[in-house]
Amino acid sequence: MPMSADFEQRLNPLLQGIADHYGTPFHIYDEQGIRDTGEHLNRVFSGIEGFREYYAVKALPNPRILQIMQSLGFGFDCSSVAELRLCRDLGARGEEIMFTSNNTSQTDFEGAAAEGGCVLNLDDISLVDKVPEMPELICFRYNPGERRTGNSIIGTPVEAKYGVAHDQLLDAYRRAKARGAKRFGLHTMLASNELNYTYMVETARMLLERVEWISQELDIRFDFINIGGGLGIPYRPEETALDIDAMAREITELFQVFGQKHGYTPKLYVESGRYITGPHGVLVTRAINRKEIYRTYVGVDACMSALMRPGMYGAYHHITVPGHSGSDEVVDVAGSLCENNDKFAIQRTLPKVSDGDLLCIHDTGAHGHAMGFNYNGKARPKELLLRSDGSVELIRREETLEDLFATLDYEADLYTPAD
Ligand SMILES: *Cc1c(COP(=O)(O)O)cnc(C)c1O
Repeated sequence: MPMSADFEQRLNPLLQGIADHYGTPFHIYDEQGIRDTGEHLNRVFSGIEGFREYYAVKALPNPRILQIMQSLGFGFDCSSVAELRLCRDLGARGEEIMFTSNNTSQTDFEGAAAEGGCVLNLDDISLVDKVPEMPELICFRYNPGERRTGNSIIGTPVEAKYGVAHDQLLDAYRRAKARGAKRFGLHTMLASNELNYTYMVETARMLLERVEWISQELDIRFDFINIGGGLGIPYRPEETALDIDAMAREITELFQVFGQKHGYTPKLYVESGRYITGPHGVLVTRAINRKEIYRTYVGVDACMSALMRPGMYGAYHHITVPGHSGSDEVVDVAGSLCENNDKFAIQRTLPKVSDGDLLCIHDTGAHGHAMGFNYNGKARPKELLLRSDGSVELIRREETLEDLFATLDYEADLYTPAD
C-alpha cells in the first residue's frame, strides 16, 4: 500500500485549502506518520540493549524533519560535510552522528573531527593511515564480496565501490588498533529498497559472525554492529510491506544467542532513510495541460527537478487524483523539462484528469526533494509539514531564479598563464 492510509485520510480533506494557501507544487510530509513508524521501530527492537536508528540524512535533509528524528531518540547517518553541518546545527554531537563517507577527502576528515566529532566509519583500509587523528572509537564499512554467510545468498557486492574487502578486514582493525583505536564498530550496507526482511536478518547474522572472528583474532571487543539502511517500502499497490516485526524478532534472537555464548552483546544500529520517511511524503502538483498526440499527456506544474526517481531509475510512484476515482484512461504524466524522461508516470491508468486537478505523487518522503536538481533552470519546490496537531508549516521555501543565479555573482578572477 503506497502512502500510508492514515496520511491519505488526514491530508485529503485539507488538500485543496493547502494548495490554495501555498500554491503548487509542493512536497508535504506527515509528522504523525513519521512518528508512528519511528516509535514502532523503537518498540520492536526494544529487546536489544542500545538499539538505535541513525536516520540517513540524505533521504530528507530538512532540519524540521531531523528534529522529529531527534525527538524519537534517533541519531544521524551523514555522508557529507553539509549533512554534518545540518545535524550539528541541531545540536547533535559525538556518538549521535555516524559519518559514512566514501572516496573520503581530507576536508571530509576535518569536517568529521570538528565540533565534537562523530563516529567515523571508514570505507577503506588505506584510510587508516590518512585519518589525521585516529579516534578512540572507529568503525569500518565491510564489503563481503561474494556472500560468505551460512545459508542465504543476499547479493554479490563485488562491483560495489563501497567498503573494505573481506581479506582486508582483519588487517584494517589491526592497523586501527595499532594507531590507537580502543573501541570498535562494524558496518555494512548490502540492501536497497529490500522488502524481504530475511536479507536484514542474514546481514545481522553475518556481522555477528565477523565480530566473533575479529574479536578472537585481535583480542578486541565490539561496541556495535550497524546493518545499514535499505529497508524497503511498497511503492506499488500490489506489494506487501516489509515485515519489520519478524525482522526484529529474528535479529533479537541472534543477539540472545550471541550474548549467551560471549557474555555480552554489541549494540545494534540501523541507518534507514526510506523506511522512516518515504511513505510519509507526497508531491502535490496541479494538472495544467492536456495533450493528445500519439499518446495522451497530462502536463503538471512539477517536473523531475522535484522528484528524480522515475526519470533516473524508472522507479514507480503511485499517483492518485483526490476526489476522483475510476480507471478511465491511460496517460503519461509529464513535467516541462526538455528531457523525454521527465515523466512521473508512463502509460498509467488514472481517473480522467482535467486542467486544475490536483495530483498526489506518492512516497516522496525519502530521496525525493533531496535528489532534485536544477538542469534546464528548473527550481525545486517548497516543502510543507502536516503537523500532528493538524496545522501546516512551510519548512522550506521554493527556489527562486536568484537562487539559481547566485553562483554567477562573484569577484572577477582572470588568470593569464605566462608563455
Ligand atoms: C543511502 C544510505 C542509507 C539509507 O538508505 P535507505 O534506502 O534510505 O534506507 C543508509 N546508509 C548509507 C551508507 C547510505 O548510503
